[in-house]
Amino acid sequence: MKEAKLSLKQHANHRTVVNLSVDVAIGDKSVVVIGGPCTVENQQQIDTIARRLSQAPVHALRGGVYKPRTSPYSFQGLGVEGLEILASARSRYGMPIVTEVMAISQIEAIAQHADMLQVGSRNMQNFDLLKALGEVDKPILLKRGLAATIEEFVMAAEYILAHGNPNVVLCERGIRSFDTYTRNVLDLGAVVALRQLTHLPVIVDPSHAAGKRELIADLARAAIAAGADGLIIECHPEPEKSVSDARQALSIEDMIQLTHSLEPIAAAVGRFLGTQAAVPVAA
Ligand code: PEP
Ligand code: MN
Repeated sequence: MKEAKLSLKQHANHRTVVNLSVDVAIGDKSVVVIGGPCTVENQQQIDTIARRLSQAPVHALRGGVYKPRTSPYSFQGLGVEGLEILASARSRYGMPIVTEVMAISQIEAIAQHADMLQVGSRNMQNFDLLKALGEVDKPILLKRGLAATIEEFVMAAEYILAHGNPNVVLCERGIRSFDTYTRNVLDLGAVVALRQLTHLPVIVDPSHAAGKRELIADLARAAIAAGADGLIIECHPEPEKSVSDARQALSIEDMIQLTHSLEPIAAAVGRFLGTQAAVPVAA
């Protein structure tokens, strides 16, 4: 970590707040929830999800249109058509959009439509991509690599910061280990360490960590109790029919119920579930 110059805290209260829109910010006292499907499948799917989540304490919409699939024969994403579907949901329901960028060639189109660009685990050390994202005027959600150390993760963020983009949010999404019962191992120790070491917001993705829908709500609550600044969670109107990551997709009902169950946990750690606009006025 010795070489990290820009991502480390300069003093105890040093924290960066990353704005996704005029009323959604990550890294302040609010707990931000990003929800949506693994993959954008069609207009109706996104419309249903955005309509229902926009009425819950869910602050941003996720959905992949360029998908890093293990098999080249699996669905690879809708590309630009998917970006247009997300953008139309944004204009209808007012939710900022988060979607993955896999290559430098995709940056321009994604930055035109999305409010935050996600770097997936498989690209955490794609240094040319990180450098290029340093020049983008949009926040970056950097997911921890499948087997990245905390130092490697911080140094990947450092690449984006060093190339000029100060708006980086870190995402712990589970790391590879020996146990195959869960898809990955959610490393909440890393969340605590990253919030002590760096001034960047840290969110948790319990979906890719657990890989099983029945484990997600408890892990989400544990993440908020451990100090995470937010969550990114996959859900689908018909979870079993999800074209990717079906086993970990929550139903929309379960997603909404989960978000409400976070409220007392957020309050217990001095936070609230919501946006700046919802900040209670001090008496
Ligand atoms: C995703 O968010 O759908 C995804 C592919 O995540 P990760 O890069 O963490 O595997
Ligand atoms: Mn997924």
